[in-house]
Amino acid sequence: MARYTGPVCRLCRREGKKLFLKGDRCYSDKCALGRRQSVPGQHGKSRKKVSEYGTQLRAKQTARRYYGVMENQMLRYFEIAARQPGKTGENMLVLLERRLDNVVYRLGFAASRKEARQLVRHGHYTVNGKKANIPSIQLKVGDVIAVAESSRSSEKIKSVTEANASRPVPQWLDADKNQLTAKIVRMPVREDVDMDIEEQQIVEFYSK
Ligand code: SF4
Repeated sequence: MARYTGPVCRLCRREGKKLFLKGDRCYSDKCALGRRQSVPGQHGKSRKKVSEYGTQLRAKQTARRYYGVMENQMLRYFEIAARQPGKTGENMLVLLERRLDNVVYRLGFAASRKEARQLVRHGHYTVNGKKANIPSIQLKVGDVIAVAESSRSSEKIKSVTEANASRPVPQWLDADKNQLTAKIVRMPVREDVDMDIEEQQIVEFYSK
Protein backbone atom coordinates (compact mmCIF):
# COMPACT_ATOMS: atom_id res chain seq x y z
CA MET A 1 0.00 0.00 0.00
CA ALA A 2 1.37 3.39 -1.00
CA ARG A 3 2.09 5.89 1.74
CA TYR A 4 3.66 9.29 2.20
CA THR A 5 7.32 8.97 3.24
CA GLY A 6 8.45 12.62 3.04
CA PRO A 7 9.05 15.06 5.92
CA VAL A 8 5.85 15.23 7.97
CA CYS A 9 6.34 18.60 9.70
CA ARG A 10 6.19 20.12 6.23
CA LEU A 11 2.60 18.85 5.99
CA CYS A 12 1.66 20.76 9.15
CA ARG A 13 3.25 23.91 7.77
CA ARG A 14 1.33 23.41 4.53
CA GLU A 15 -1.99 23.17 6.36
CA GLY A 16 -1.06 25.87 8.88
CA LYS A 17 -2.03 23.71 11.82
CA LYS A 18 -0.70 20.94 14.01
CA LEU A 19 -1.55 17.55 12.55
CA PHE A 20 0.18 15.63 15.37
CA LEU A 21 2.15 13.35 13.09
CA LYS A 22 5.27 12.93 15.22
CA GLY A 23 4.12 11.74 18.62
CA ASP A 24 5.71 13.39 21.68
CA ARG A 25 7.57 15.97 19.63
CA CYS A 26 4.24 17.52 18.60
CA TYR A 27 3.45 18.39 22.23
CA SER A 28 6.91 19.85 22.93
CA ASP A 29 8.58 23.15 22.04
CA LYS A 30 10.50 21.24 19.36
CA CYS A 31 7.36 21.32 17.18
CA ALA A 32 8.39 22.79 13.86
CA LEU A 33 5.16 24.76 13.57
CA GLY A 34 6.07 26.82 16.60
CA ARG A 35 9.36 27.83 15.01
CA ARG A 36 8.37 28.27 11.37
CA GLN A 37 4.83 28.95 10.28
CA SER A 38 5.20 29.89 6.62
CA VAL A 39 3.88 27.59 3.92
CA PRO A 40 6.76 25.48 2.54
CA GLY A 41 8.10 26.19 -0.94
CA GLN A 42 9.62 29.06 -2.84
CA HIS A 43 6.44 31.20 -2.77
CA GLY A 44 5.28 30.12 0.65
CA LYS A 45 5.55 33.52 2.28
CA SER A 46 3.81 35.38 -0.54
CA ARG A 47 0.66 33.31 -0.98
CA LYS A 48 -2.48 35.38 -0.49
CA LYS A 49 -6.18 34.88 -1.13
CA VAL A 50 -7.43 31.31 -1.21
CA SER A 51 -10.21 30.43 -3.68
CA GLU A 52 -13.30 28.40 -2.79
CA TYR A 53 -11.74 25.41 -4.51
CA GLY A 54 -8.50 26.03 -2.59
CA THR A 55 -10.38 26.05 0.75
CA GLN A 56 -12.10 22.78 -0.10
CA LEU A 57 -8.84 21.22 -1.26
CA ARG A 58 -7.06 22.23 1.94
CA ALA A 59 -9.91 20.80 4.06
CA LYS A 60 -9.62 17.49 2.23
CA GLN A 61 -5.83 17.44 2.46
CA THR A 62 -5.93 18.25 6.17
CA ALA A 63 -8.24 15.31 6.94
CA ARG A 64 -6.24 13.01 4.70
CA ARG A 65 -3.03 13.97 6.45
CA TYR A 66 -4.45 13.68 9.95
CA TYR A 67 -5.40 10.08 9.23
CA GLY A 68 -2.46 9.34 6.92
CA VAL A 69 -4.54 8.00 4.03
CA MET A 70 -3.75 8.33 0.35
CA GLU A 71 -5.99 10.09 -2.15
CA ASN A 72 -7.59 6.97 -3.60
CA GLN A 73 -8.49 5.70 -0.10
CA MET A 74 -9.96 9.07 0.81
CA LEU A 75 -12.11 9.08 -2.31
CA ARG A 76 -13.27 5.56 -1.50
CA TYR A 77 -14.32 6.67 2.01
CA PHE A 78 -16.27 9.54 0.49
CA GLU A 79 -18.04 7.21 -1.95
CA ILE A 80 -18.99 4.76 0.81
CA ALA A 81 -20.10 7.62 3.08
CA ALA A 82 -22.27 9.12 0.33
CA ARG A 83 -24.18 5.82 0.00
CA GLN A 84 -24.86 5.61 3.74
CA PRO A 85 -27.87 7.28 5.38
CA GLY A 86 -27.19 10.54 7.22
CA LYS A 87 -24.66 13.28 6.60
CA THR A 88 -21.93 12.27 4.16
CA GLY A 89 -19.22 14.34 5.86
CA GLU A 90 -19.88 12.84 9.26
CA ASN A 91 -20.15 9.33 7.82
CA MET A 92 -16.74 9.83 6.23
CA LEU A 93 -15.16 10.87 9.53
CA VAL A 94 -16.67 7.87 11.26
CA LEU A 95 -15.17 5.56 8.62
CA LEU A 96 -11.77 7.17 9.17
CA GLU A 97 -12.08 6.88 12.96
CA ARG A 98 -12.96 3.19 12.73
CA ARG A 99 -9.69 2.29 11.02
CA LEU A 100 -7.58 -0.07 13.11
CA ASP A 101 -4.50 2.19 12.98
CA ASN A 102 -6.55 5.15 14.25
CA VAL A 103 -8.03 3.06 17.07
CA VAL A 104 -4.56 1.85 18.12
CA TYR A 105 -3.45 5.50 18.24
CA ARG A 106 -6.59 6.61 20.09
CA LEU A 107 -5.97 3.93 22.71
CA GLY A 108 -2.46 5.22 23.36
CA PHE A 109 -0.94 1.98 22.04
CA ALA A 110 1.15 4.12 19.62
CA ALA A 111 2.52 7.67 19.72
CA SER A 112 1.07 8.76 16.38
CA ARG A 113 -1.16 7.35 13.64
CA LYS A 114 1.93 6.86 11.54
CA GLU A 115 3.57 4.75 14.22
CA ALA A 116 0.28 2.91 14.79
CA ARG A 117 0.16 1.96 11.13
CA GLN A 118 3.71 0.65 11.22
CA LEU A 119 3.13 -1.36 14.41
CA VAL A 120 -0.10 -2.80 13.00
CA ARG A 121 1.72 -3.86 9.85
CA HIS A 122 4.31 -5.62 12.02
CA GLY A 123 1.55 -7.70 13.61
CA HIS A 124 1.68 -6.30 17.16
CA TYR A 125 -2.12 -6.23 17.67
CA THR A 126 -5.03 -8.60 17.55
CA VAL A 127 -8.71 -8.07 16.80
CA ASN A 128 -11.05 -10.57 18.48
CA GLY A 129 -8.06 -12.77 19.32
CA LYS A 130 -6.72 -12.97 15.77
CA LYS A 131 -3.61 -11.22 14.51
CA ALA A 132 -4.60 -8.17 12.46
CA ASN A 133 -1.94 -6.52 10.31
CA ILE A 134 -4.04 -4.42 7.94
CA PRO A 135 -4.19 -0.78 9.16
CA SER A 136 -7.39 0.02 7.25
CA ILE A 137 -9.53 -2.71 8.85
CA GLN A 138 -12.91 -1.22 9.82
CA LEU A 139 -13.72 -2.00 13.43
CA LYS A 140 -17.28 -2.43 14.66
CA VAL A 141 -19.14 -2.42 17.95
CA GLY A 142 -18.08 -5.36 20.13
CA ASP A 143 -14.66 -5.82 18.54
CA VAL A 144 -11.86 -6.39 21.04
CA ILE A 145 -8.44 -4.96 20.23
CA ALA A 146 -5.36 -6.11 22.16
CA VAL A 147 -1.60 -6.03 22.06
CA ALA A 148 -0.63 -9.50 20.78
CA GLU A 149 0.69 -11.90 23.43
CA SER A 150 3.93 -12.30 21.53
CA SER A 151 4.48 -8.51 21.54
CA ARG A 152 3.90 -7.84 25.24
CA SER A 153 7.54 -8.43 26.13
CA SER A 154 8.77 -6.25 23.26
CA GLU A 155 10.73 -3.23 24.54
CA LYS A 156 9.26 -1.08 21.79
CA ILE A 157 5.67 -1.93 22.71
CA LYS A 158 6.37 -1.52 26.44
CA SER A 159 7.93 1.90 25.98
CA VAL A 160 5.25 3.17 23.60
CA THR A 161 2.31 2.00 25.74
CA GLU A 162 3.88 3.38 28.93
CA ALA A 163 4.71 6.72 27.33
CA ASN A 164 1.14 7.16 26.03
CA ALA A 165 -0.77 5.62 28.95
CA SER A 166 -2.07 8.98 30.16
CA ARG A 167 -3.52 10.03 26.80
CA PRO A 168 -7.31 10.37 27.18
CA VAL A 169 -9.28 7.66 25.37
CA PRO A 170 -12.49 8.64 23.55
CA GLN A 171 -15.75 7.42 25.08
CA TRP A 172 -16.60 5.04 22.26
CA LEU A 173 -13.64 2.90 23.35
CA ASP A 174 -13.45 1.03 26.64
CA ALA A 175 -9.75 0.56 27.32
CA ASP A 176 -8.01 -1.53 29.95
CA LYS A 177 -4.54 -0.04 29.87
CA ASN A 178 -3.14 -2.58 32.36
CA GLN A 179 -4.26 -5.53 30.27
CA LEU A 180 -3.51 -3.67 27.01
CA THR A 181 -6.93 -4.50 25.62
CA ALA A 182 -9.95 -2.45 24.59
CA LYS A 183 -13.46 -2.92 23.29
CA ILE A 184 -15.51 -0.81 20.89
CA VAL A 185 -18.59 0.04 22.94
CA ARG A 186 -20.38 2.21 20.40
CA MET A 187 -19.85 3.80 17.01
CA PRO A 188 -17.94 7.09 17.07
CA VAL A 189 -19.95 10.24 16.33
CA ARG A 190 -18.88 13.66 15.06
CA GLU A 191 -18.38 15.01 18.58
CA ASP A 192 -15.76 12.30 19.19
CA VAL A 193 -13.55 13.68 16.44
CA ASP A 194 -11.52 16.33 18.21
CA MET A 195 -9.50 17.55 15.24
CA ASP A 196 -9.99 20.74 13.24
CA ILE A 197 -11.68 19.18 10.17
CA GLU A 198 -14.25 20.89 7.95
CA GLU A 199 -16.02 17.85 6.58
CA GLN A 200 -18.63 19.85 4.64
CA GLN A 201 -15.83 21.44 2.60
CA ILE A 202 -14.54 17.94 1.80
CA VAL A 203 -17.99 16.85 0.64
CA GLU A 204 -18.18 19.88 -1.62
CA PHE A 205 -14.70 19.14 -2.97
CA TYR A 206 -15.68 15.61 -4.01
CA SER A 207 -19.19 16.59 -5.19
CA LYS A 208 -17.95 18.78 -8.04
FE1 SF4 B 1 3.32 18.77 13.02
FE2 SF4 B 1 4.17 17.32 15.07
FE3 SF4 B 1 5.92 18.30 13.30
FE4 SF4 B 1 4.67 19.92 15.03
S1 SF4 B 1 6.15 18.28 15.51
S2 SF4 B 1 4.96 20.30 12.87
S3 SF4 B 1 2.61 18.96 15.14
S4 SF4 B 1 4.33 16.76 12.93
